[in-house]
Amino acid sequence: MTQLQKAADILQLDANIHAVLQHPKRVLTVAIPVRMDSGETKVFIGYRSQYNDARGPFKGGIRYHHNVSLDEVNALAFWMTMKCAVVGIPLGGGKGGVIVNPKTLSEGEIERLSRGYIRGLYKYLGSDQDIPAPDVYTTPQIMAWMRNEFETLVGHADPGVITGKPIEEGGSEGRSFSTAQGGVYVLQEAVKKVGLVPEQTTVAIQGFGNAGSYMAKILHELGFKIVAVSDSKGGVHALNGALDIPKLLAYKEQTDSVTNFPETRVLSNEELLELQVDVLVPAALENQITADNADRVKAKLLIELANGPVTPDADPILMQKGIISVPDILANAGGVTVSCFEWQQNVRGEHWSEADVLSKLKEKMVESFNAVWERKEKYSIDMRTAAFVLAVERVADAMKK
Ligand code: NAD
Repeated sequence: MTQLQKAADILQLDANIHAVLQHPKRVLTVAIPVRMDSGETKVFIGYRSQYNDARGPFKGGIRYHHNVSLDEVNALAFWMTMKCAVVGIPLGGGKGGVIVNPKTLSEGEIERLSRGYIRGLYKYLGSDQDIPAPDVYTTPQIMAWMRNEFETLVGHADPGVITGKPIEEGGSEGRSFSTAQGGVYVLQEAVKKVGLVPEQTTVAIQGFGNAGSYMAKILHELGFKIVAVSDSKGGVHALNGALDIPKLLAYKEQTDSVTNFPETRVLSNEELLELQVDVLVPAALENQITADNADRVKAKLLIELANGPVTPDADPILMQKGIISVPDILANAGGVTVSCFEWQQNVRGEHWSEADVLSKLKEKMVESFNAVWERKEKYSIDMRTAAFVLAVERVADAMKK
């Protein structure tokens, strides 16, 4: 809401639109009884927040986590509204969650829970209403079960009701690495703005999961020098210039961590954030760069592949140091953009090639980066505020019309 307020002040947003944007349009809570393998019935609580559909059907993932709360689901649904608007895709914002630790459930229990979630909510879902997707601890297989349950209940096919499906179930080519690929496209635009060339650009990446490891792979192929990476067990810093990323990917596959990779020195996650590099990519957790360490960040560019890695009190410090931080709602929007492509393919009965998907993704990311940049220059603001200004502008326009 603080971020919304900032953008509203700059845009002199109509007070009526601002008031509407402060609340989700609809919030649903469901109690899901699940027959456990033991024969006992357990009841899980699930939510769906449908925040705003001015620009298109609600869109956003479903999270399975024991810390899920309605407040968090609403905040994430608001961010989805902003993210879809920043990249100009015809979708609104929503988010779902179930309070559960999925690691304690068997596969069959997870399937019954996922089908139960859809039974509770199916009247409010559909490719023309609300389109969920995977989020923390939900997978393509879970999306396939959910699609199947939905179609059984409504009595007709609707493959576009959910995205992030397996390819054989109507998933899109390129979805697995789309978040990283989108981040790479905005990074390529950003390095042009600060006058860097790939071969001389050093990069440090925090987090080596889906987002971070694909980012490392793609940047390495483009000639960037990845000098340091980390995961939850620790970090590594190349002793001889740059890390051999293909070897590191194979090493991580075998050992389950990047730590102790040959020809590197040990590096803590805190040290990684403060390295003398050109580009820093936080791709792990939220709240990593705060008012406490922002002053020690030495990178020229930050690409926020994770959600919320920079706290609001760190933003002014980074801006004062001349560091450009490409905000999460732009930098990691490649994932939802390809989700949108998946939905478009499904409703049209098409299957696009990977090359087609990537060329459309590139167009969206480059256009959006430049639209945000334009607002940053126009109002002399940081990129995060500029991204919110662009998003609020677009959502407000749709609401008014
Ligand atoms: P993931 O679970 O695949 O990977 C997370 C990585 O972070 C792992 O390598 C883990 O070891 C590492 N990590 C955990 N704690 C750490 C710590 N203290 N220090 C350093 N590394 C640590 O998750 P992901 O899908 O890659 O998501 C990462 C971030 O990107 C999240 O913030 C997520 O919300 C965001 N994101 C992901 C997608 C996507 O499509 N995968 C889309 C948008 C945003």
